[in-house]
Amino acid sequence: MSEVAAVADGTTSGVRTEAVDTAADAGGAPIVRVRGVRKTFGGVDAVAGVDLDVRTGEFLSFLGPSGCGKTTLLRIIAGFERPDAGSVEVAGRDITALPPNRRPLNMVFQRYALFPHLTVRDNVAFGMRLRRLPRREIAARVAEMLELVQLTHCAGRHPNQISGGQAQRVALARALANDPTVLLLDEPLTALDRAVRGDMQQELKRIQAEIGTTFVYVTHDQEEAMAMSSRIALMSEGRIVQLAPPGELYRRPGSVFAAGFVGDANLLRCRVEQHAGRSAVVYAGRPLPGLDPAGRSGEVRAMVRPEDLKARVASGDDAGELVGELVSSTFHGFFWMHRIRIGHELLVVREAGDTSSIRAGDAVALEIEPGRAVLLAD
Ligand code: ATP
Repeated sequence: MSEVAAVADGTTSGVRTEAVDTAADAGGAPIVRVRGVRKTFGGVDAVAGVDLDVRTGEFLSFLGPSGCGKTTLLRIIAGFERPDAGSVEVAGRDITALPPNRRPLNMVFQRYALFPHLTVRDNVAFGMRLRRLPRREIAARVAEMLELVQLTHCAGRHPNQISGGQAQRVALARALANDPTVLLLDEPLTALDRAVRGDMQQELKRIQAEIGTTFVYVTHDQEEAMAMSSRIALMSEGRIVQLAPPGELYRRPGSVFAAGFVGDANLLRCRVEQHAGRSAVVYAGRPLPGLDPAGRSGEVRAMVRPEDLKARVASGDDAGELVGELVSSTFHGFFWMHRIRIGHELLVVREAGDTSSIRAGDAVALEIEPGRAVLLAD
């Protein structure tokens, strides 16, 4: 990422609208509308055709592995990158041809890019001075922003006199001081150490909720995306493969990729077979309850999270039991992780608590929490 000072010409904000994908329940236009956006770098499809609606006031994250196109998509929205095809609208206006400084957006970068020779106060005031706002207005806005990020006591310091977490909060205050319609954030917490990052996640969420500005956030850290976002756009190879709230992405991933990228997942190799006269999803010879194989045939994959499997010592007299062998158990302070072999597959079971009644070598029976198995797309 380049260390470009964030600039904006802050225009409208606070318009209550909703995205097209839920237009039926919301009935409004999205605040950011991306249509058919593509970008190729030397034969590599960095963004391979993206349609996206960002809702006003939401905290939307682009999540995905390194190289999947998150930053390129964000930079296209910001105007730092020209798409080869497609368009970007903000608040109903096509901004595809506008340079970054004429877009009603602001960006916060991984490296805070604060001006080292300016005080915290002057860093926050910078964009407003560029726009030649009245001095009193600037002073009031700076005070408001420093209070928002809880740095009033650091106003007179220089960037080398504050911590990394504080510097990122100054960068945030500087970006928000321009009252952008949408704030774009490119992995803003990466440079911080783990403990500070956790605090900053909470801070960002609080600030976003307090001011209601739409945030579009890039991260490759699924826990971070889960902790902060109202919706996550999961990306792979230049495409958005699933767009959903964190809970839905975790509970109902649409693909093997989504299941494996967000949280731990057991991927069960199943077959669609006739069972008691009905079509059923069968795993290790037993139908999995609650899964509808409608329209599917042959081999399919089902997903179960480790915490949705229960293991106990097999009774040996229940022919319906799903039985495996406990290969290993590890204790993690307040839960156990058991690895259980069923046929050629190893399943992971997470058991809460500090004692466990099963041991390596045991024949164990597995039960799936009702409704927690999910059939994945091919
Ligand atoms: P990361 O999490 O590692 O930052 P990302 O998901 O943000 O990854 P991008 O930075 O958008 O991914 O890159 C997408 C693809 O485009 C990658 O293959 C990358 O190498 C390539 N790419 C990005 N920018 C350029 C560029 N300026 N020139 C050439 N290739 C580029």
